[in-house]
Amino acid sequence: MDPNREARALAERLPLGRLAARLGGSLVRPTDDGYDEARRVWNGMINEYPAAIAYCRSVEDVLGCVEFARDHDLDVTVRSGGHSVSGASVISGGLVIDCSRMEWVRVDPEERTARVGPGATWGTVDRATQSFGLATPGGVYADTGVAGLTLGGGTGYLSPKHGFTSDNLRSVDVVTGRGDRVTADPTQHEDLLWAARGGGSVGVVTAFEFDLHPLDHEVRYFESWLPTEDAPDALREYRRYQRNAPDESCVFPYFTSVPVTDEFPADRHGDAAFVLAGVYAGDPDMGRRELEPFRDRPAAFAGSTDAMSYTELQSLSDEDFPDGRLYYWKSVPVADLTDEAIAELQVAADRAPSPRSTIVVWPMHGAVERPPDIAGPVAGRDAAVVVNVEAAWDDPAATPANVEWVRETCGRFRDLGATPGTLPNFAGGRDPDADDVYSGHAERLRAIRDRYDPDGIFEYERA
Ligand SMILES: Cc1cc2nc3c(=O)[nH]c(=O)nc-3n(C[C@H](O)[C@H](O)[C@H](O)COP(=O)(O)OP(=O)(O)OC[C@H]3O[C@@H](n4cnc5c(N)ncnc54)[C@H](O)[C@@H]3O)c2cc1C
Repeated sequence: MDPNREARALAERLPLGRLAARLGGSLVRPTDDGYDEARRVWNGMINEYPAAIAYCRSVEDVLGCVEFARDHDLDVTVRSGGHSVSGASVISGGLVIDCSRMEWVRVDPEERTARVGPGATWGTVDRATQSFGLATPGGVYADTGVAGLTLGGGTGYLSPKHGFTSDNLRSVDVVTGRGDRVTADPTQHEDLLWAARGGGSVGVVTAFEFDLHPLDHEVRYFESWLPTEDAPDALREYRRYQRNAPDESCVFPYFTSVPVTDEFPADRHGDAAFVLAGVYAGDPDMGRRELEPFRDRPAAFAGSTDAMSYTELQSLSDEDFPDGRLYYWKSVPVADLTDEAIAELQVAADRAPSPRSTIVVWPMHGAVERPPDIAGPVAGRDAAVVVNVEAAWDDPAATPANVEWVRETCGRFRDLGATPGTLPNFAGGRDPDADDVYSGHAERLRAIRDRYDPDGIFEYERA
């Protein structure tokens, strides 16, 4: 049976009317007009047919959904920002607990904390915290959800200074698979807080509390566009720099192609390119001096350096990843950016089947190397850099070639010397193996999940 008909048949058998009546939010069923819109997520590759999508407005709504799923033995996924690259937040034949309408942010400037609803995006959080001259390290794209990003670790421009997003997570309110409502913080359910710091869905998180840090000045952003032939030299220089890079600096070289816009010379449009880009989150004038050697490479054919507000910085990539395009991303924490690894980066970039794809080298220095007391299960802190292989394409017929390119490239980096594990937010397919993702932390994570979700309500969500 096709998954759409199967979802309709299942929905007919379930007493969904009872669930709908209990919700303060709304329920979308396969026969409803808005169903196709409601089942869609950011990645156009994902085409799932849930039995129902419950838009929750409150913790009571979430409790009602978990109870319903338990009573009817339904698979469950939780969706907040809908930007899971692997599409893990929707499932055919299951119940989607959608938290996107639980969007709120409360900043306490005295305590330097923010309580955040699961439906908030980073754009909302950054605007709220910056209005008090504060910030916490979030993702670099305004529309991504706070929930999924934090539960998958989370790296951003402020990570070298303040760690993974999850390192800054003080507490979570969770509706567990048992149907209980608990708060996990360093004094109670400490193991659940540990699991929430990167271990994926440990229940439905209905509130996050973050530490905030002062950031009351502009930050420096630069980029320098180079022909790919310049990449090996530039990457060797980057390797030298990274060994003693200050925590304020986040330099992330990447391979891409030249956009067809006025900012770039017309004779370069569409060519493969290597970009040195970076942020300095300390004093912007100091940042200009700090990043000068990267900016002033003779082969550069385009570039910029600007001081800007943190919220502006956080929106710079907003146009780069449109909804509905086809995406497949995966990452490898690389122990050392050796000459071989540098050569491999260039080979992989040359082989990219789609000009929309990028390979990003993300720095792992500073605070990410210094885990807090309750660090969480994210592996790979001792990597020199993380290589993110990000395929993006439009033609469904090109899917196999793009997926294969990502897998093959990551495999090569693994063979060259990767540290165990991978960043959960960029783990690849829909059902990654917990041992591959969390390495030495996988067993502890499994034990915690089993305790809080003994019947496996969130089994599908588990890496
Ligand atoms: C354009 C783009 C840019 C990105 N940039 C970054 C970046 O800079 N840094 C980074 O680290 N990652 C980045 N990512 C990866 C991103 O962090 C993950 O895709 C993340 O899962 C998205 O979270 P979400 O809430 O939007 O997604 P969703 O699809 O809603 O959820 C993602 C996962 O979290 C679970 N989940 C969601 N809400 C809850 C909840 N309330 N309780 C329990 N489980 C829940 C879902 O079930 C799913 O498994 C980016 C992704 C995209 C698409």
